[in-house]
Amino acid sequence: MAEQKVNLIGLSPTKLEDFFEEMGEKRFRATQVLKWIHQQGASSFDEMTNISKVLRERLSEVAEIREPEVLLDKTSKDGTRKWVIQMDGGSAIEMVLIPEGDRRTLCVSSQVGCSLDCSFCSTGKQGFNRNLSAAEIIAQLRVAIRSFGPFDPSGERRVSNVVLMGMGEPLMNFDAVFDAVQLMMEDNAYGLSKRRVTLSTAGVVPKIDKLAELGADVSLAISLHAPNNELRDQLVPINKRYPIEELMASVKRYFDKLSDRRVATIEYTLIAGVNDQREHARQLVKLLRQVPCKLNLIPFNPFPNSGYDRPSEQAIQAFKSEMLKGNILTTVRRTRGDDVDAACGQLVGQVEDKTRRSAKYIELHNQTS
Ligand code: SAH
Repeated sequence: MAEQKVNLIGLSPTKLEDFFEEMGEKRFRATQVLKWIHQQGASSFDEMTNISKVLRERLSEVAEIREPEVLLDKTSKDGTRKWVIQMDGGSAIEMVLIPEGDRRTLCVSSQVGCSLDCSFCSTGKQGFNRNLSAAEIIAQLRVAIRSFGPFDPSGERRVSNVVLMGMGEPLMNFDAVFDAVQLMMEDNAYGLSKRRVTLSTAGVVPKIDKLAELGADVSLAISLHAPNNELRDQLVPINKRYPIEELMASVKRYFDKLSDRRVATIEYTLIAGVNDQREHARQLVKLLRQVPCKLNLIPFNPFPNSGYDRPSEQAIQAFKSEMLKGNILTTVRRTRGDDVDAACGQLVGQVEDKTRRSAKYIELHNQTS
């Protein structure tokens, strides 16, 4: 049986250096190849003109540069763009680009489905399928950049920010996410600053500590959604394993270790009658005073059979002003892209329809290719 080729798209700078060393080559080849793949968007070794023909041939025997296929590319009325991308083994994931002023934020997925089962999240309701590889995570960025025309990560219409807020819990897929994040921030690859790459987690405490230990230096967002353990146990079940006090302590450790003054982003999805009352706001103020952070309120995005509602605009504003009164820097996330099912918690659309929908995309695709 032919051995599977290594997909170089997902190798972190160090792993790519190791790869060349194992081939008996100099480690600096990694820098050249990183630039070809991530800055020039090369898809074949033939393009790599500063590498000898002999080495290029050897490379194409053992390695490849393989990008997943785009099954669907749709732009919402507000400019939000959504892609459905076909991964190996027939699974599909979704990716969203949100333009806002000078910023173009790409929201990438880290898993197919999710194992955490948060009660208000459509992705969670589908269950867990599998982890994405580092190549599959970083390829999302390549696909987005390529879709603006000639490949140019530093060009005007480039992706300026990346958030790991798509499908999946990034910290349950630690190694692949870690490598992908390194590539996003690597000067010889995408060169995004550490303030522009944000990992969002429901709170896998030991992995937050591991990020700190390894000096990942990525920005961190925490999906809190409740100001006390009783309520958070219901909304974000992983809270039963890592309760709020432990989570907050790990966030504090993480930011204490950073060399700059970045603060945590706390995400709080506002759900009518569930976590949006004045008492919740007051508890939240007390809690958030303990950590350097800013608060991002996300009005709940409804999906069929969720059993939850979005609070009224008035209730959202009342919650916000309660937080501001408590001196917590607070913003409300505007809902974007909901006409193409691209809003937070809506990825891969209707819950029950998930399997059939991805099957439908594939079917459609096969008909046109
Ligand atoms: N698992 C990670 C990454 C997902 S990020 C995490 O939990 O942080 C997606 C963000 O959108 C999370 O804050 C999530 O809680 C929130 N979200 C999920 N479903 C939502 C919904 N229906 N409406 C609004 N926000 C939602």
